[in-house]
Amino acid sequence: MARVDGDRVTVFDPAQRRQHEVVAAAVTPVPATAVRVTTSVDLPLPHGLDEHDLRRWVAMLTDPVLRERAGEALTAADLDPGVSLPEVTVRAIALDDGASRCLCGATTRSTTTAPAVATPAACPACGRQVAPPVPPSDA
Ligand SMILES: [Zn+2]
Repeated sequence: MARVDGDRVTVFDPAQRRQHEVVAAAVTPVPATAVRVTTSVDLPLPHGLDEHDLRRWVAMLTDPVLRERAGEALTAADLDPGVSLPEVTVRAIALDDGASRCLCGATTRSTTTAPAVATPAACPACGRQVAPPVPPSDA
């Protein structure tokens, strides 16, 4: 939830970049799990390209809508759409290291509660609800 205002809550959908304001009673919380997302792409990287520009290029390649629009715009301008062609791999792996993760970047370890029975807790750094890890796979 991005905002709580009395009996109204606002949920922000980062994928669609949209907010939805609804009555709190109409919202069903869904569980979250600590996950590591890795994005990778092999590129012919030009010398001198700084990190900021590299991040923006990889972001364009990672978002299928941006990627398609970039390719179409380059083609429409009679330019080589090659910079929109590299394939990006996105992997999400549930973390089983016993630590919860927060949106603020904080990592929290609980020594008193096993991950399998841990209930969502507040982040000690910012107060947001943390996402617990999954139980170790050998447990
Ligand atoms: Zn936090």
